[in-house]
Amino acid sequence: MQEDTPTQNEKTVAAPARHRLRKRRSGRALLVGAVALAGLGLAGASAVALDRDDAPATTAVSLDAQSRAEAAARADRSTRESPTPAGPSASATTTGPAASPSATPTRKATPKPKPTATRTAKPKPSWVNPMKGAQITSCYGQRWGTLHAGIDFAMPAGTPVRAAFGGTVEKAGDVGDGYGISVVVNHGNGYLTHYAHLSTTKVSVGEKVGAGETLGLEGSTGDSTGPHLHFEVHQGQLWNQIDPAPFLRARGITVAC
Ligand SMILES: [Zn+2]
Repeated sequence: MQEDTPTQNEKTVAAPARHRLRKRRSGRALLVGAVALAGLGLAGASAVALDRDDAPATTAVSLDAQSRAEAAARADRSTRESPTPAGPSASATTTGPAASPSATPTRKATPKPKPTATRTAKPKPSWVNPMKGAQITSCYGQRWGTLHAGIDFAMPAGTPVRAAFGGTVEKAGDVGDGYGISVVVNHGNGYLTHYAHLSTTKVSVGEKVGAGETLGLEGSTGDSTGPHLHFEVHQGQLWNQIDPAPFLRARGITVAC
């Protein structure tokens, strides 16, 4: 019976101990549960936050845009830098598209066509040969004791005589000065040209003419021994004749003098 007491005792002692243990265990379970709940709560909160902000969708779009922008940038770089090996500029441009998901920076980077390439420059007015293909029969200089103040161009009679440069007709016709039917054009740049011994003139005083325009036809009027064009260049003022050969040569016209 005595032996029962301890058992009884043990039982009575053990019971609250077990209860205490169970209590402690359940307390721990509560704690674990609370932590789990807290975790769930956090997870729930984050899930809500993700759902509310629609973050996963935005990320996917931005990534897609970014990859497209990067691809566009790579393509752009390849077209711009294909002839030369990638230099330090290539590494500098790679950081550009990653900074912004927008595709606009790459569109800005597209090289614009150079305005100089498309711009058509207005053709500069040029001098022309007054009688292209003609034989030069006499140059500027002393001849038989007098100054031959021009160059003689020989072609069959009636060949058109052309204005060497644009200007205003200052003289047209025969005034009895030995030049026969002649035309003087004032170019308005300090120079005048004189075309003599024509058979006829096609222009009149005060008329504006362009370079290469027909002034008259080759003849042998005035003090002339045969059909030819006597061509003069006057510098600064009328009848201040200079050698036409270097003058024409400086303006791209070659004459055999
Ligand atoms: Zn002459």
